[in-house]
Amino acid sequence: MERIGIRLPNPIGDVVAATPLIRLLKQRNPEDRIVLIGSAKAIELLDGLDTWHEAEALEETPHHGKLSAWEEGTFLKKLLLDKIYLLPNSFSSAFAAMRAGIPKRVGRKTLARHFLLTRRLPKVGEPRPMSRVYSEIVGEVQPPKIELACTERGDRLARETLEALAPHGIQPPFLAVAPGAAFGPSKVYPIELMARAVRLSEKKTGLQPVYFGAPNESELIRSVKALHPAPFLHSSLTEMKSLLKECEVLLCMDSGARHIAAALDVPQVILYGPTNPRWTNFEQEMTVALRLEDLPCSPCHKKVCPTDHACMRNLTPEEIAEAVETARQKAIILSF
Ligand code: SF4
Repeated sequence: MERIGIRLPNPIGDVVAATPLIRLLKQRNPEDRIVLIGSAKAIELLDGLDTWHEAEALEETPHHGKLSAWEEGTFLKKLLLDKIYLLPNSFSSAFAAMRAGIPKRVGRKTLARHFLLTRRLPKVGEPRPMSRVYSEIVGEVQPPKIELACTERGDRLARETLEALAPHGIQPPFLAVAPGAAFGPSKVYPIELMARAVRLSEKKTGLQPVYFGAPNESELIRSVKALHPAPFLHSSLTEMKSLLKECEVLLCMDSGARHIAAALDVPQVILYGPTNPRWTNFEQEMTVALRLEDLPCSPCHKKVCPTDHACMRNLTPEEIAEAVETARQKAIILSF
């Protein structure tokens, strides 16, 4: 029996995209122990899946937040791993694995880290879905579906939240709205337009809007909410998974929320701005993607728009409301 570590990526969307690889590793190594290593958020998100045996959250140090590569190496050493799959392409993750003395270290050769790996995969190269990029590490180009699971605790928390909302007339069917994006402001649809899109979507579909967001997106959500009031569900990822299951459609950016919804089979409307959809075009059956085509500067992958943010400003609230209705209809058709 070997202890196989999987160093998870940091962005939440990429963590979801790694779930097919985790399943493949479990299937192909039935005698071994699968150990996940990642941020506390990543571990929380993957709680409830039956594809791993142990999960170790990389602790944050009191003095400077994230662990340094040296500290991460010390942390990994205690896990006594025989092998590790490094999903982040960083030098530091490979350095930490080598410092921990893990005999087999598998990852893509980037950022001058090839000498730290014992098995080197080619650089990522052309855009393609991240779920495939990760599964290719074990030679699979047609990965299984991305997946997440709700937990009993999440279901209980969601039930309590819904019970607290009901006396105020806030009841399903819900339209979940996640206006934020951890990547940066270039991915965020302008606040006034978003408020109008939510108002029109509510009118068109009759769905009750509810806002979702990470703690650091509170200000953004308060601004949208000020223009179109609806509850802001400050939830942990554990609860968010269970609450999202109660929603008919998620309106979001090209963000982690989209991946969570896709993994839970909740239809999504995605507003693409500066990023290339080819990195995320998996699980499309219940997705309606809105993107301005033929914009010469797109995709720029810049965190802050250096020009007029035309890629997002030119998506109209009216077409977004149409898309919400389309996504809802898709879900109805697929459920028959
Ligand atoms: S440069 Fe173009 S693609 Fe990039 S954020 Fe601005 S408008 Fe969008």
